[in-house]
Amino acid sequence: MNIHEFQAKEIFARYGIPVPRGIVAANPDEAKAATLELGGRSVVKAQIHAGGRGKAGGVQLVHSPEEAAEAAQRMLAANLVTPQTGPKGAPVRKLLIEELADIKQELYVALTIDRGHQGPALLVSTKGGMDIEEVAATSPEDIHTEPIDPLSGLMPFQTRRLVRHLGLDQTVAGDAAKVLSALYRLFVENDCTLVEINPLIITGDGRVVALDAKINLDDDAMFRHADLLEYRDISQEDELEAKAADLDIAYVNLDGDVGCLVNGAGLAMATLDATIAAGAAPANFLDVGGGATPEKVASAVKIILSDSKVQRVLVNIFGGILRCDIAAEGIVLAYEETGSNIPLVVRMLGTNVVEGKHILGASGLPVTFADTLTEAAEEIKKLNV
Ligand code: GDP
Ligand code: MN
Repeated sequence: MNIHEFQAKEIFARYGIPVPRGIVAANPDEAKAATLELGGRSVVKAQIHAGGRGKAGGVQLVHSPEEAAEAAQRMLAANLVTPQTGPKGAPVRKLLIEELADIKQELYVALTIDRGHQGPALLVSTKGGMDIEEVAATSPEDIHTEPIDPLSGLMPFQTRRLVRHLGLDQTVAGDAAKVLSALYRLFVENDCTLVEINPLIITGDGRVVALDAKINLDDDAMFRHADLLEYRDISQEDELEAKAADLDIAYVNLDGDVGCLVNGAGLAMATLDATIAAGAAPANFLDVGGGATPEKVASAVKIILSDSKVQRVLVNIFGGILRCDIAAEGIVLAYEETGSNIPLVVRMLGTNVVEGKHILGASGLPVTFADTLTEAAEEIKKLNV
């Protein structure tokens, strides 16, 4: 789960990580009042679940309450498109109005799971600011990575090494080390998959302050964090993905036109590969899961059919815990309820496959059967839509 910058900063504050004074505003009047409260100048920051706002007009320094109201009006009026949002952009419903910072130095700090080392890793760079992706691409040696053993946690010698890499003065090194340790505690205690501060700044008067804040939470750990669940903002999520999540269906929206209905995550990935290998493009990843009922299968199919990109549907079911007849009933149910006539290619194997194929065959739906996954993908490619 993704959360907003202002929410991440609330969590930072709880862990003693210094953040600028800030007030959340939802309209120009509130932005104006907040700026007045902050001394007549502020930075107005669009709250969306994506970075790259600075370059896209989503972060504006203003020098009067009136200018803050104008900036707010502009930002709230349209979706904000950044390199991280996709072409549609993200709706801006809230703004964070913050006191201006006196930036002497911009650093980069992040904690994430490093799959190579199978544990958390802390990354730091002196090249903080807006272009860390470019630093990673062109001068990766400027990013120092410290793998952390999850059993011992972040060790003091590692914190010292990171601070040394940042080349900080003695006067701020202690505070920076405190931020790093607090960040690690926050990361573990909240089951984060990513915590990023870009930039972590050193101010003119020698304070260490998190000027930006990004937190990703592990969806599979959310049951342990009922309080954090309140931070969810559905307006920032892909509509179909949000719907699927509520139905407990693993679904990821993709770019192509082949809707894919599969049981099992591995099989779903293999289905995407086979589809692409055949020269077609999947519209989604979907794992309907093991213990699905006809109604749940129908919900999954309806999600696929409600995606306007979908021109054809590839069904790949390996009947085990989910029997083929149950899957077939669900597919028929969804087509009946939606009145769709989008063609299907079905590859079914396993428990009750004869019954499953019979149900689909007798349904009158535009179904083509295939015996292997490769054949199914080739049939999908052949469907001229
Ligand atoms: P992002 O582009 O979405 O990552 O948004 P950030 O919160 O990182 O803001 C982008 C940039 O705006 C930062 O790297 C800073 O250079 C600048 N910025 C943000 N707040 C302030 C501020 O209070 N004062 C100044 N001078 N610059 C700021
Ligand atoms: Mn940033």
